[in-house]
Amino acid sequence: MRPFLIPLPRDVRYTGGTSVLRDECPVTVSDAPELPDEAYTLRIENGEVKIAASSEAGAFYARMTLEQIRAVCGGRCDDLVISDAPVLPYRGFLIDSCRHFYGTDELKRLIDAAARFKLNKFHWHLTDDQGWRIEIERYPLLTQVGAYRSNSRFGGVDEGTPHAGFFTKEQIGEIVAYCAERCIEVIPEIDMPGHFTAAVAAYPFLGCTGETVEPQQEEGIFPNVLCVGNDKAVSFVKDVLDEICELFPGRYIHIGGDETPRAHWRSCEKCTAEMNRLGLSDHDALQGVFIRGIASYLQQKGKTAITWNESLRGNCLSPQDVIVQRWMDRKKLCRDFAQAGGRLIESDFYHYYFDYPCGMTPLHKAFAFDPFRAQTPFGVEGALWTEYVRTFDDLCEKLFPRLFAVAERGWSGFPSRSGRDFRAAVLALLPTLQRLQIPTLPPSRWDPGAVARLRETKVFFKGVLTPELLRQARGL
Ligand SMILES: [Zn+2]
Repeated sequence: MRPFLIPLPRDVRYTGGTSVLRDECPVTVSDAPELPDEAYTLRIENGEVKIAASSEAGAFYARMTLEQIRAVCGGRCDDLVISDAPVLPYRGFLIDSCRHFYGTDELKRLIDAAARFKLNKFHWHLTDDQGWRIEIERYPLLTQVGAYRSNSRFGGVDEGTPHAGFFTKEQIGEIVAYCAERCIEVIPEIDMPGHFTAAVAAYPFLGCTGETVEPQQEEGIFPNVLCVGNDKAVSFVKDVLDEICELFPGRYIHIGGDETPRAHWRSCEKCTAEMNRLGLSDHDALQGVFIRGIASYLQQKGKTAITWNESLRGNCLSPQDVIVQRWMDRKKLCRDFAQAGGRLIESDFYHYYFDYPCGMTPLHKAFAFDPFRAQTPFGVEGALWTEYVRTFDDLCEKLFPRLFAVAERGWSGFPSRSGRDFRAAVLALLPTLQRLQIPTLPPSRWDPGAVARLRETKVFFKGVLTPELLRQARGL
């Protein structure tokens, strides 16, 4: 039986025989310095397995491929030689730990599953309006106050219970090490200057008004942004990033930059003075200069900042400053940035935001998305925000198998194979997810028909798209 694999390998050559892959069959790993990082060859012949790679990651991916072959073929496969390498260096998945918090055991299950499909970046959304989820020694109130909210009312559903939790430094280290063993780099996101309510709740001086607030209980875009005109508030951010850089050994730090309302900046003396001092004409530029300053601070520490596409609006960022993650419109700004040599990560809202139901983003739609349509991106990433995810099972069902579509694009490029062949491969690999205790929806619900799609999407958005939310979105 010939294997269905995800992601599709670059080249598979069958050599005529068949092999029995016993559990104890010998696996030889040899060094192949001519191969690029993450590339490998896997040879299965006469019951023997030979792997060649130039890096630990390449050898790891060869083993992941071997594991899939075993899982799909049940121990007997056609002899073959696979020569494989990824198209993109950045193949990510985002988990939002702020809106609904899940602990290290649950995260490890997700990481295990992602690694098997050769994803190599875990974008960990750790701070937001509804919760600050990472211990910072210098500012203990961030977690004592900011990691707790007394209720949750996302989508108009009153959960009626407090929600709390954060990761200690030890737990962060545990996840970083767990990922490293699976060739995954962890990219923490400390979202700023917007999505900052939980931090302002802990330290009111961080906001423009100095008012006392509480972490938010609903979804939305909130006015309590960082006061970027206040030196003390900017120093706070740098202090936090100092500790973040120590905790995360990878190259990239995500600094948010999305959905930042300007209302408080407009009426803030400090922010206005800062704009005048810099000679800036609008608040988009104020955000751009702030993001550029933070990115430069990180550069001095040997790190590269990633920011959401909204930060491009002020026309202050050059390709040397940041990597941009595109999620929603701003196509022209992103295209210009890429044409000037900037690196883009594609996380298109309509295709790679998996917190929305299959009715809105069916599996085939996620798979059909071409992140290479305008230019070759630096990376691709699937996102799982957790406003409407109230159980871990639901989180898994939303993320898988749609995340496979991202894994395939990042590794195999576009096009790779037909949607039908991809779906067959997904079905063949479902037992692998089950072994990892990752529940999925029944396959009949991955690609609902037009009527079912409409119904599912309507039911989902009922209560979510409130007039208040729409007003906020328009006001940005
Ligand atoms: Zn201010």
